[in-house]
This record gives sequence, C-alpha cells and structure tokens, in this order.
Amino acid sequence: MSNPFRGLPAVARVLEAPAAAAARDRYPPAALTAAVRDVLEAARDQLAAGAEGGDLGAESLAARAVARLDSESVPRLRTVINATGVVLHTNLGRAPLAEDAARAAYDAGRGYLNLELDLNTGKRGSRLAAVRDGIRTITGAEAATAVNNCAAATVIVLRAVAAGREVVVSRGQLVEIGGGFRIPEIMGVSGATLREVGTTNITRPADYERAVGSNTAALMRVHTSNYRVRGFTKAVGLDELIALGKKHGLPVIDDAGSGQALDLAPFGLPGEPLVSAGIAAGADLVLFSGDKLLGGPQAGLIAGRADLIARIEADPLMRALRLDKMTLAALEATLRLYRDPERARREVPVLRMLTTPLADLRARAEAFAARLRALPGVTADVGDDVAYVGGGSLPDVAVPTVVIVVGVAGLSEAEFAARLRTGTPAVVGRVQSGRFLVDLRTVSERQEDELFSALRTASTTLA
Ligand SMILES: *Cc1c(COP(=O)(O)O)cnc(C)c1O
Repeated sequence: MSNPFRGLPAVARVLEAPAAAAARDRYPPAALTAAVRDVLEAARDQLAAGAEGGDLGAESLAARAVARLDSESVPRLRTVINATGVVLHTNLGRAPLAEDAARAAYDAGRGYLNLELDLNTGKRGSRLAAVRDGIRTITGAEAATAVNNCAAATVIVLRAVAAGREVVVSRGQLVEIGGGFRIPEIMGVSGATLREVGTTNITRPADYERAVGSNTAALMRVHTSNYRVRGFTKAVGLDELIALGKKHGLPVIDDAGSGQALDLAPFGLPGEPLVSAGIAAGADLVLFSGDKLLGGPQAGLIAGRADLIARIEADPLMRALRLDKMTLAALEATLRLYRDPERARREVPVLRMLTTPLADLRARAEAFAARLRALPGVTADVGDDVAYVGGGSLPDVAVPTVVIVVGVAGLSEAEFAARLRTGTPAVVGRVQSGRFLVDLRTVSERQEDELFSALRTASTTLA
C-alpha cells in the first residue's frame, strides 16, 4: 500500500496556489500559513481515518484555508432581521432600542462623558443621577435606582430588605422566568428565606397572616409574567397584600417584571400591570426590567421608598451590579421619550410594533408578497395569524397579526429557514406546521429591502 499522505502538497506549495495568493492582501502571512496548516492537518486526519479527503490539490486546499479565514472573520454577534413577529424575542436580544437611545449609547461608547462628574460644581456625582428622575416620573415613586437586570434587582432588594430573615410569597407566584431565574433560587442567593404560602391555585390573605411572625422581613408579590393560573383560582391582590403589610408593619415588594409604563390595554393588550400601579397602591418597592415592555436596554429598575433605596445603594453588591455608561445613556434616552406618551408610542420600537394597526400590517404584507411573487419559483400568500409578545410579557394575549407564507419550489421550509439564518444579514422567521412564515410586525420599514434581497438570495437554488 502506498502512503496516502504522500499525495498531500507541502505548506509552501499551497501558499503559492492562486487562491492563497489572492488572499494575501486580506490576511497577514502568519494567519494564512496557520490556516493552511490546519487544513492540511484536517485532511491528514481524514485520510488516517480512511475517509476520502476530496480534492487534495494545492488550489483546492488553499481555497479551503481561505474559506476558513473568511468565516472566522465574520463577527459572532451579527444583525438579525426578526421576521418572527415575536416582539420581545429573548434569543434575539429582547427589546431593540429607540433611535435616540441607540445614538446615546453609541456616543457614550466612543467618547468621554460626565458619567460621575457634576459639570455644574466640578465635583464627583452619581452615575445614577441620569436615570433617577426618569424612573421616578414613570413610576410616581419618591426614589429610584437601577442595576444590571431585574434578576439582579431582585437579589439586591431581598438582601437589603430581608437578608437572614423571611419573605412571604404565594406558591402560585414561584416563577421561573427562563435563563435560570427561579424565585426560590434567587431568594437563596440573596440570603433571605422563602416562606411559601397557599397552594398553586389558591392563596388567601389568611395564608399570609398565618405565615407572618417575628422573623418576617417582607411580603412579596411576583408578577406571573410568563404564565397565568386559570380555572379555580384565588390570588391575593396587591391592594390586599399592601393592607396586610401595613397591618403588620412589613414592607411590600412588587416584582412587576415586564415593566409596562404606557398602558397598552387600549391597543388590545390588557393584562400587564403598569409600573406606576404598584407605587400608587402603596407598594414599598417596585422592580422591573428595562428591556421588556419598557423597550430600553437591559437593566433592572427599582423604585420606591427613599430609605429602602438608600439601603439598597449602600450594599457593596451594588458596585458589582452597576450599569455601564452605554446602558445608562440608552436608559436615560429611553426614559426621556416617556415624557410624551405619544412620542414614546411612536419611537420606542417595542411600543410601535405592538401598537401597529392590523390594517397597516396587512397593506405592507400585501405589497411585500407581491414583490416576492415576482421571483422565480417563489409563492407568497398573505394570511391571518396570531403572535405572542414573548420575553415574559403578556403570556396569554394572542396578538392578531398578518403573515406572509413563503414557499420555494424544490426547497423544504427547514432548508429555506437554514439558508436565511446563515445568510447576510441573517433572517429568522417562523417555521410553523411545515410552512415558512414572515411577520412584518417586527421588521422595520427601513429593513424591508434588505429582507427582500435575503429572501431572494435564499430562494435561488444553488447560489
Ligand atoms: C423577566 C422577569 C425577571 C427577570 O428580569 P431580567 O431583566 O430578565 O433579569 C424577574 N421577575 C419577573 C417577574 C420577570 O418577569
């Protein structure tokens, strides 16, 4: 038997092949050499394993090495066109920022800013000064602060209010949000002890009463953001919980989660508590996410009693959970938009998408489908469907929407979806009952041309 490795060209020969030579102006010599070595080694492994190595000529191996470098030079995090219709898509980064907020983060990122400097006095200031007023305005609270996300907010609030003592929570509210956020475990991390009361479906005020004792530090309500308990159920309302707290001299913490600051009920999206409702009802602390229905950057916002906020900020953990300058800038800009609710509805993408009238969506879908139908082998039918808000918000509200069902001759919907996912820009749509669906609710008008060319490229058999 002849040595199969003998057929493999030397590194130097591969580097001289036209494909490698053509890449010399794009990649430094060391990177090209390393890629060629890797490709040769992979070919050797394949041959050793008895596999066919394919075309092992110098030119083919050089092309493989360059393809490897090309794929490595694409950033891992890339822009995705979200054609799923799921507005708060956790895997796609939840809330896209408003233009003002994105620009503020960009400016903060590329330069210096008065992050901790009071420009009037020239003295050191708090980085949180930029967002305190905005959070107070949307919640109506006397004081406010912010950390990295709502999970972090829950931990630091529980530490400040209840470390080493008990917090009473209904069994019906022991949520898991996803990504490993489970109330019982978060409670454990904070050093507070969870005192569960009631059952999954029924919790009465008397259940809380029985649990309150000398070691109780607080009562907590957790908003069931991503599920609802239905049927034979009874929960203790926030009002009742606050009355109980007052009676026993205990603070009431409201983990509101989804952070709705603009009432979406008039737009057919009822069911989420307003972030101002907890404070108005008398909750001592309200916490919620920045990147769910608020439509801002990832953050955990905390509003409530000034003495409790001061205690939270005195915790050394605050330093570990603090917001960075880009997030603070984006959060301040987002909160500013809420000074004018109509402006917030128009400019905060999450709100704009959720409140887009069905008729507008239908008109866009019809026009877009007509463009698609002009492509060879492509079918595009407009139909009615429902979508969910996602991201742990409005779990049981099926939002009526309009979709385009796209078919490509000779291509399964899974193959089509895979091509779109791996294209540039990447496109993620909905694959449902063997059909590929595009929902323009989550696609901005400025993205439509890009989406169209991505669909065209993916529909062309053998690009
Ligand atoms: C989403 C959510 C959290 C976690 O918020 P993150 O910002 O994702 O950390 C906590 N509590 C409730 C009730 C939530 O809905």
